[in-house]
Amino acid sequence: MNEIDILKNIAENLSQRKSSAALNNYEVLGNNIKFLNDSFIWGIENLSDLEKQIELKFKNDELVTNNFKDNSKSPYYFRKILPRIISNDISIIDKFISNTQPDDRQNITLENVLELKKTFLDFSNLVTASRQFIDSLVSDAYQLIKLDSKEINFHVLTSLHSFNRFVTKSIRQALFNSEIDNSLNEFNNLSNNKRIRGNESHITKCSEKSFGNKVDFLFSELSLSTETDFKNKIKDLFSFSSEFTHIGYVSTFFTSSNDSEVIFKDDISPYLPSTENFSELKYELLEVAMRFFVKVYLPSIDKALKTAFINDTYYSLSESLSCISDKISQDLKTRNNEYYFFIKQGLIESEETIDLTCICGTIRNWEPPHEMSKIFCSNCGSQFKLLEIEGDPGYIITSNGPVKVIGSNVPDFNDLPMEKQIDLLKQCENVVNEQTK
Ligand SMILES: [Zn+2]
Repeated sequence: MNEIDILKNIAENLSQRKSSAALNNYEVLGNNIKFLNDSFIWGIENLSDLEKQIELKFKNDELVTNNFKDNSKSPYYFRKILPRIISNDISIIDKFISNTQPDDRQNITLENVLELKKTFLDFSNLVTASRQFIDSLVSDAYQLIKLDSKEINFHVLTSLHSFNRFVTKSIRQALFNSEIDNSLNEFNNLSNNKRIRGNESHITKCSEKSFGNKVDFLFSELSLSTETDFKNKIKDLFSFSSEFTHIGYVSTFFTSSNDSEVIFKDDISPYLPSTENFSELKYELLEVAMRFFVKVYLPSIDKALKTAFINDTYYSLSESLSCISDKISQDLKTRNNEYYFFIKQGLIESEETIDLTCICGTIRNWEPPHEMSKIFCSNCGSQFKLLEIEGDPGYIITSNGPVKVIGSNVPDFNDLPMEKQIDLLKQCENVVNEQTK
């Protein structure tokens, strides 16, 4: 190919937008987004309470380790800085949460369906909020693990230096005083190299300058070295969001089209392909962000607390962190699973409506002609796999308990007489014992 070939390809393919296709299930996406978004709101409310406790406990000399008691040493000053880092992050996460809410589909009709259309502004807000989330939390998790005076000095003075370049008089007055001015002058007088390298006599240091290096550092410090895929995903998200935040050609082209769209419809209301595309991205961003929050960010706070507080205080704070982490991890696991059902042979070809009850409690009334594309949970997105069993087997004994074969001529397990229930449970216990032998 020569340069004209490439330019021609761009002109013909990346200047007029093709209509987008909806490849996912919009209803499921909406439910899953709502479920994870609610879970994250719960997590941040709890983290917010915890931050207040941490702030309070830092005021009590009795509760901190010896290193943190001496005001001639640097750890002492983290007693004020550490809670501030967490509360800054809570603001950033709050913004992310408000940008990842599910679409409101109430009262959407063919007449007003265009209100759901997602434009450049929506994409730009969503991805920029995600960029701020991942960028800030990586950088702050790094500071929480390091708890190093020169590292935090570099972080804050760099920020102050940029802020100072355009800040207006009144804001400047509220923020700057002679102490801050002196610190900033000291920093400004250093060459870039000296600011970063930070030997004995210097005031600042930055050991891991780039986003990627900071991510590598965090994964290694938190013993997550085997999580290569997730680590790469975080870096991919960073690059992808850079493209949006810095207004790249492709992201702007993709999101700023004014073409009319075809209108789709599901059980809830009409919708547009662009709304479905947008939700798909929103869900992916939400999921990755929440996984990062529980795998990297909360453990970084934990590590900092362990250094700062005496054992008893640390243990109680750490337990609260674990509660947040456990619930969110559990919530993440319940989305888009694969569940197996045992079903009596012949039922699928019959005229009967088959009720499939998902683990999340939602029932799918699977009507004849029993299309395989329709066996999934509209609430949590889980896919159902069916295992056909010959004859009328009643229950299947598994290590997870007795499972009724759908279509079998037996009562539901809970409707069985107690002695029959106990008998089946004993059989299951035997299966477990067999497996563990
Ligand atoms: Zn479900």
